[in-house]
Amino acid sequence: MKILMYAVLGDEKPYIKEFCQQTGHQVDQLTDYLSEKNVSLAKGYDAIVTQQTVAIPDSVYQQLAEFGIKQITIRQVGYDILDLPAIHQAGLRASNVAAYSPRAIAEYTLTQLMNLIRNNKRYYRATTSGDWQWSAAPQGREIHDLTIAVIGAGRIGSALAEMLHALGAKVLAVDPVYHAQNEAFLDYVDLDQALAQADVVTFHTPLNDETSGMADSAFFDKMKAGSYFLNFARGGLVVTDALLANLRSGKLVGAALDVLPNENEFMSAVSDPKIIPADAQALMAMDNVLLSPHVAFYTDLAIKNMVRISLHDAVALANGQKIENEIFD
Ligand code: NAD
Repeated sequence: MKILMYAVLGDEKPYIKEFCQQTGHQVDQLTDYLSEKNVSLAKGYDAIVTQQTVAIPDSVYQQLAEFGIKQITIRQVGYDILDLPAIHQAGLRASNVAAYSPRAIAEYTLTQLMNLIRNNKRYYRATTSGDWQWSAAPQGREIHDLTIAVIGAGRIGSALAEMLHALGAKVLAVDPVYHAQNEAFLDYVDLDQALAQADVVTFHTPLNDETSGMADSAFFDKMKAGSYFLNFARGGLVVTDALLANLRSGKLVGAALDVLPNENEFMSAVSDPKIIPADAQALMAMDNVLLSPHVAFYTDLAIKNMVRISLHDAVALANGQKIENEIFD
């Protein structure tokens, strides 16, 4: 089978080579993400795989179907970039990699939470400019002394909750889907209860019509004064202006963000700080805001699993087989 893989990173190549050697399939690679401009390159292939944060427009699915391709596979968890009705209307099947390594994202969230509550950005900035005084930052907090609300206790959120519980934190979860086994390390509450009680609120929901802009002014109004906010899921979950207003007023004492709503304008490139959007620049300037370039997933184990699982699933979908990762709605 001939597979075309879009948006390939150097780190993925050894695993792609291994897959080809093991299966005898051919995988050709492009560094660009899939778009209207380069969908024509998929002609003659049996299956395609991509990974990207840039949405794939309707016209692409129609073209893929015209080329005889039967599927679109993304090697990532979040599938907000796909237009599922358009995919199914074009007669294609879709899949993601629902669990390449939930721990990768959970561990990075924990890392940044630890950095945040011990004011490490302030100390880093102070020490690099020669200031070695304790007073360069306020007192830190201890994780076992905190109540932490996990919004979205799915694969990533529950992995994080389990680690936080093991460290002694009180963990609250907000999720419309109940998993009895999670009760061992978290308490299910409703959103208002979570926001009223939590010292830390961390987001791990998908981005969809229901969750888009969920962290808005009304949401931040309900949070405790002196709390922290984290988003390691999707930028579109948060209204950045509302977050900025609450950081500026001091109601929120810190934030850690791995994703931003407008990240496609500048992430994945070396950008002149002056052309980065004003809201992102404002966050960059704040001593109590930790930013990272959508890298929570970026570990060796995660990349290996993303490549292997997506390629096997793409072949299976193209062959008309059932797979666990198929996305229906
Ligand atoms: P998952 O489907 O296992 O869990 C998501 C959970 O959110 C589910 O339990 C769902 O019921 C819950 N949920 C849905 N709507 C909700 C709402 N309105 N309020 C509260 N909970 C709600 O997905 P996952 O593997 O845990 O991934 C979560 C998200 O993390 C993905 O959708 C993706 O956007 C993001 N992600 C980010 C990175 C990164 O590198 N930063 C990597 C992977 C995934």
